[in-house]
Amino acid sequence: MKLVEVLIERKANTLNRPFSYIYKGTKPVDIGYRVLVSFAHKNVIGYVINVNDEKRSVEQLEKDMGFRIEEIIDVIDDKPLLNTELMQLSNEVASHYVSPLISVLQAMLPSSLKPATSAMRGPKIAYDVFVKLKNDTEEGLTPKQIELVRLIRSAGKILKKDCKSPSILQKLVDKKIVEFEKVEKIRLEIPEYKKEHKKALTDDQKKAVESILNTDKTVTLLQGVTGSGKTEVYLSISEKILAQGRNVLMLVPEISLTPIMVEYFQRRFSGDVAILHSELTPAEKYDEYRRISRGECHVVVGARSAIFAPLDNIGLIILDEEHTESYKQDSLPFYHAREVAIMRAKHFNSKVVLGSATPSLETKARALKGVYHYAELPNRINKQELPKTAIIDMSKAYSFSRESSMFSKYLIEQLKGVLERKEQAILLINRRGHSGYITCRSCGHIIKCPNCGIALTYHRDDNLLKCHHCGHVELNDEHCPECGSKYLSRSGFGTERIVDEVHKLFPEARVLRLDSDVGEVRNNIAKTVEAFANLEADILVGTQMIAKGHDFPNVTLVGVVLADIGLSLPSFRSTERAFQLITQAVGRSGRADKVGQAIIQTFNPYHYAIVLASKQNYEAFFRKEMSVRKVAQYPPYTYLTSLEIIGKNKDNVEEIISKIGRDIEKQNFENLTVLGPVEPYIAYENNNYHRIILIKYKNYDKINQYLKDVLESLKSKSQINVKVNVDPYDF
Ligand code: ADP
Ligand code: ZN
Ligand code: ZN
Repeated sequence: MKLVEVLIERKANTLNRPFSYIYKGTKPVDIGYRVLVSFAHKNVIGYVINVNDEKRSVEQLEKDMGFRIEEIIDVIDDKPLLNTELMQLSNEVASHYVSPLISVLQAMLPSSLKPATSAMRGPKIAYDVFVKLKNDTEEGLTPKQIELVRLIRSAGKILKKDCKSPSILQKLVDKKIVEFEKVEKIRLEIPEYKKEHKKALTDDQKKAVESILNTDKTVTLLQGVTGSGKTEVYLSISEKILAQGRNVLMLVPEISLTPIMVEYFQRRFSGDVAILHSELTPAEKYDEYRRISRGECHVVVGARSAIFAPLDNIGLIILDEEHTESYKQDSLPFYHAREVAIMRAKHFNSKVVLGSATPSLETKARALKGVYHYAELPNRINKQELPKTAIIDMSKAYSFSRESSMFSKYLIEQLKGVLERKEQAILLINRRGHSGYITCRSCGHIIKCPNCGIALTYHRDDNLLKCHHCGHVELNDEHCPECGSKYLSRSGFGTERIVDEVHKLFPEARVLRLDSDVGEVRNNIAKTVEAFANLEADILVGTQMIAKGHDFPNVTLVGVVLADIGLSLPSFRSTERAFQLITQAVGRSGRADKVGQAIIQTFNPYHYAIVLASKQNYEAFFRKEMSVRKVAQYPPYTYLTSLEIIGKNKDNVEEIISKIGRDIEKQNFENLTVLGPVEPYIAYENNNYHRIILIKYKNYDKINQYLKDVLESLKSKSQINVKVNVDPYDF
């Protein structure tokens, strides 16, 4: 008989410990195997972290341990799910991020292999299930149900697995509003691209490739202005590494950029590329995951979680657009792909390349200090000048005509020119939906989310009010919920409203929209990008999604409709983020043989982030922002960790977090300060109070152990939950 320790997926800190089971069966079972066990009267999949032979009888064992021990129902795997390196990595990540090991395993494994709370979920899907409208009515439906009905109506049919809430879908099925349609499943097909004709590298590119290959430092920052040909450098180094018989992991910041990068790699290394990102279906992911672990491909391209790809013998890890915040997971274990990349690189003794036109301050500072190697591509490939930019002061009446209150006279004039010359334009507004928020003109009430208190956004496409934080949805009944007045006004504007404005001003122009609402329906993002690249539209309106990575040669004008969104957010990173976004957006213009132009509309025309972004002057921005961070003692001058307590009893939550804060300060750690407790941005959600402290320090090692002890000591407190976020993105 074996005594087996099993981890089970539980969010609560109190349950962040292994549970003991016995196994009398004959199948081999070891660390890293998944097992089926009964937990709280449910069959769940657990993950084995320890196995010991047990000589005692069950009765004796239970007597010694003081509780009843159940038997493992079945052993699922016939070999461990993770190899030794990944197992070690999971422990290292859990330890560094002071997070439950189970949360790291959840982040690492494709969903079909995860230890799940629900019972067996196999990847044996043989068909796609679509949802169609059967009875097109909204009568008697809740707002959430209506939201889904309107999505299906606009798309024709959607994949069942794209419906975020199975329970809402089930209600619609019960009410006979929707029905299913089964279509034979097409597993991921990576198109066979013709092997490409390699480009001759420019001198700058050659120099960069050589210096990256020759450095003995693990990490290189590859800084290159937009359009300087970083991708070609990635491909060229990859080729050299593959020729040495070692493998390559290529990370891109967003799903929308994977197809393009996959195409580049597939063309160069045909057949040898696997893809991992969250838009793949569970079955596709499972296939790719198995293909990688069997060693059948030597290049993996994917978004953040691909950093955990079961690729062996890694020689090179590349993070494109390394400054992008999507590399940081915003839920437990709050890992950053860059840090995990460095952990894996240490293990394999491989190289890490961080590419960006606007490196994060942390990365640039490390490169300047010599912690990272530095390589650069200072010029655009075609020697094309950077786009000419104009900053338009939105607070000045003379900037606008009666034609439009959103598009300045200058922007309208330039858009006209683009349309006449049959070129293309991109309009950036970093807010989706139609308008920012809705106020009552009678009583001044702002319509807010009942769960989290954030102003709701009006979405014209499906005529609903939505919370961009928690997903709460309300019908747009055009009355003030406070005083009943009909006089509501919509302030601020988002992508949908910009599309309307373009239609109004240029009825003949063909317009496409790209934001995460568009991404609700699978493959829509890729389709939109492709359609715009194929010149099927004249103007692309979108959020930050359009600012990154894409290479649209016919775009000669980029308009940032309102550059200020983001600048005012309460985060020490908001200025850096605004600078990066505008710089990236401006860089989309004039990439081929035509000179590009950018127009930045703003209420802060003299703000350094906006002025320097318009000039694409990263170095000056870096110096200025570093001096701001130094005064305020924010990263990269210090490190941060936040600790959050969540619970239903406000007094209890505040008492516990205050005590933790005071206790840390009493420890006399060098150069350490505790800020707060404060209410985070979302302070109350779904009947739970959130309070947070922020710990600033210079040396992480000591505080890491201390935080682990704090979490251990909180395990007895079942009324509260706790989350630690090391290097939080916002604060
Ligand atoms: P970045 O990622 O630095 O913004 P890209 O990698 O998208 O730049 O390259 C910009 C453009 O230059 C692309 O259209 C690419 O095909 C082209 N390009 C890159 N390297 C070369 C080269 N050596 N010769 C010719 N064209 C190149
Ligand atoms: Zn009112
Ligand atoms: Zn909400």
